[in-house]
Order: sequence, then structure tokens, then C-alpha cells
Amino acid sequence: MATETKTAQTINADEIELKKFGELAHKWWDKNSEFKPLHEINPLRMGYIDGLADLKNKRVLDVGCGGGILSESMYFKGADVTGIDLGEKALNVAKLHQYESGSKVDYRLVSVEQLASEQPASFDVVTCMEMLEHVPDPEAIVAACAKLVKPGGAVFFSTINRTPKAYLLAVIGAEYVLNMLPKGTHDYAKFIKPSELSNWARNAGLDISGLRGMGYNPLTQHYSLGDDVSVNYLMHAQLGK
Ligand code: SAH
Repeated sequence: MATETKTAQTINADEIELKKFGELAHKWWDKNSEFKPLHEINPLRMGYIDGLADLKNKRVLDVGCGGGILSESMYFKGADVTGIDLGEKALNVAKLHQYESGSKVDYRLVSVEQLASEQPASFDVVTCMEMLEHVPDPEAIVAACAKLVKPGGAVFFSTINRTPKAYLLAVIGAEYVLNMLPKGTHDYAKFIKPSELSNWARNAGLDISGLRGMGYNPLTQHYSLGDDVSVNYLMHAQLGK
């Protein structure tokens, strides 16, 4: 047991988090399941990413790809996509879904740190969405993403801000009031302020090029991009040439 814990720490993953996602894995493509919010924000984040990085013919890495919601969309925009995750069940679901959708994403069970040491400076675009708030050492993930992108390439992150409003909406609202997400999905202490994420990105040699909020209106049940970064937000960073 001790060895298992040590291994998980070495690869910078939280076993409990991976188990939580593993238990839900069969629901990744059910748009009315716990993954509904990811399906709903997908067109918004795709618009942001494709608008800034023009995915067609780009080599893209999707870190923490889960069942492949974003990876597949990027593939259908014409990108050559590799999706990595440490959840074996999620990757199996992602691979199976390709029989239905016809997408050809290359899915691999490998840590981002490991891939960064194997293939540095290999991708035009790296995306890491809704994952940093689930890992023990998010700064190390940011550094590995920066190592994987080619000079001149783009890195996109999304996560949840550590504010009272985020606590109210993402934890109390989504998990306890609306029952949109299972209780315990998000741990407030692991939420990340844009200033923290910016510092980690700069420490890794990236320049911050953009920050957008993703707002949810519980009355209209609609998401939109805007200037309010107090709950969910997207960051665009670039590696100098
Ligand atoms: N990025 C996807 C899925 C987000 S859910 C999307 O936005 O649609 C978070 C995902 O991160 C899960 O699939 C989980 O298995 C994965 N994950 C958690 N810790 C990880 C780690 N250390 N390395 C890689 N993936 C991890």
C-alpha cells in the first residue's frame, strides 16, 4: 500500500480523484450525466481554442482528456490529436467511442511529466482542461505542458478560481443544490487563482496571452464566455519562438 501511494505521488496524481472519475467512466458520453457541464462548455472552449490557435493540421496534445469530449472535437476541426490521461477506464471509453464517432485520436495512458521527458517540444497546441484542480502538484503539470509545446506554440488551461462565489456555485450549488455533480467532485482548497496559474505558467517560460471567464446562469442553464473570471476560467499562454 505504501508503495502504491509513493508511486502515485511520484507521478503526481491523486488516486482518490482517479477512482472518482473511474466510477463515472461509463457516463462520459451521456450528455445528461455528471459530465453534462463538460458537454455544455465544450463548444465555448472549442471556439476559444480554435479561434486563437487555428487547429487545422496542428499537432495537439490534450492532457487529462477523460472520455475524449474535447479531444474528439479538436480532431474534427482537423487537428492531429493525442489524448493522455491516467484513468484507464476513461481512456477505454474514449477509445470505444471512436467506433461510433469515427474520430482518430491517439489515446495513451501516460503521465504528462513522462511524455514531456519522452517528447519535449513536440506539439503545436497543448490543452489541459478541468484537470489542474484534481492533482497534488498542479505547477508541475503546467511545467510539463510548457515542456511539451513547440517554440511559438500555444497552451490552454481551464480550471476553477478559489473565490467565495466559486465555492458557492461550483461546490454548494452544483453538488448540493442542483445535484449536477456528485458530492466531493471538487475540493475548494484545490481551486486555483488566475494569479497563481499565471505565475506557474511564467515560471515555466510561458507568456500569458489571454484570460476569459466561463459563466453559468443557473436560471437559463446557459454557459457563456465573458470577463468575469471569478468561477470557471480559461487561460491562453504561449511559448516564445
Ligand atoms: N479534460 C477533460 C476531462 C476533465 S475531468 C474535459 O475537460 O473534458 C478530469 C480528468 O483528469 C479525468 O479524466 C481524470 O482521470 C484526469 N486526471 C486526474 N488526475 C490526472 C493526472 N494526474 N494525470 C492525467 N489525468 C488526470
